[in-house]
Amino acid sequence: MDFRLINLHCPSCGSAMKGDPTDILFLCTHCGAGAILADEGLEILQTTALLPAAGRRAEIWKPAWKIEADISIADRVLFGGRRSASSTTRRKFLLPAFDLKLRDLSRLSRGLSNTEESISEIPNEPCRGGRLELSDALILLRYLIIEEEAEQPDRLASLKVEIQPLSHKLCLIPFEKSGSQLRCAITGISISAGDST
Ligand SMILES: [Zn+2]
Repeated sequence: MDFRLINLHCPSCGSAMKGDPTDILFLCTHCGAGAILADEGLEILQTTALLPAAGRRAEIWKPAWKIEADISIADRVLFGGRRSASSTTRRKFLLPAFDLKLRDLSRLSRGLSNTEESISEIPNEPCRGGRLELSDALILLRYLIIEEEAEQPDRLASLKVEIQPLSHKLCLIPFEKSGSQLRCAITGISISAGDST
């Protein structure tokens, strides 16, 4: 597959930012600013990066959304009609923003969201393939929470989930190359890399 490169200018330092034609998230390899392609052009995003776990290397960086949100679960009804108490918890999530199969997306999101994170400096390296809009990341988040609730040992019949987003950042995740797969250098989870190398 061949990609046409598009040239956009970093909203922070003016350097050219490169990406694939379908990318909407960009990282400036000159100044480390992250940006999202909006209707009026590139807008700066708060950006952070995570350190690989001990003994692992950052061979390739991939974009994710780091989202903090209040998650309210109400009207959780079990088969038989019993209801659980409502709850609201403040949680942090890391949701891969590049193309992945849903199964990999779910495994990696849950692995990353449940791992203690160490912040790294922003790498001066490319980070391509960011295609997930924030609004779609929130839809994914809802899916993950429902999946998590449905896996509880009780027999869930229905529930209501409300997500109150508090903050979001572009977060760069380190991966190692492993044949046709990528291995997350934080969680060790392997995913199909597809064409997203
Ligand atoms: Zn820049």
